[in-house]
Amino acid sequence: MKSYRKELWFEVPSRRGLINITPQVEKCLRESGIKEGLVLVNAMHITASVFINDDEAGLHHDYEVWLEKLAPHEPVSQYRHNTYEDNADAHMKRQIMGREVVVAITDGKLDFGTWERIFYGEFDGRRRKRVLIKIIGE
Ligand code: ZN
Repeated sequence: MKSYRKELWFEVPSRRGLINITPQVEKCLRESGIKEGLVLVNAMHITASVFINDDEAGLHHDYEVWLEKLAPHEPVSQYRHNTYEDNADAHMKRQIMGREVVVAITDGKLDFGTWERIFYGEFDGRRRKRVLIKIIGE
């Protein structure tokens, strides 16, 4: 069995943002040389997510509105976590949107449904953060 590991770094210039990281994951898959197996992609921070969904701007806006309803950033004083920082909402947004995805690799490609793409979801940005890619297989 072969194994491959890489960390991708991101610095989103705003507090929140979504980035389609499918091209970077596909590049890692090519580098790995693995044709059949699994890829794990996970955020290495507790205020960021990795998830799979549609690369459609309207939906991304809808996520922003929905997440702000569920866990509004303001007022920051509503959260007990916000003593030394102001990112309690970001922890909750991360929990809802998920930590990681696992995708099957078939014939050297990500074995996606038609509209599936991998996203990095940032909820407390303006600093450098990491995503782990681990690929195992033959
Ligand atoms: Zn925190």
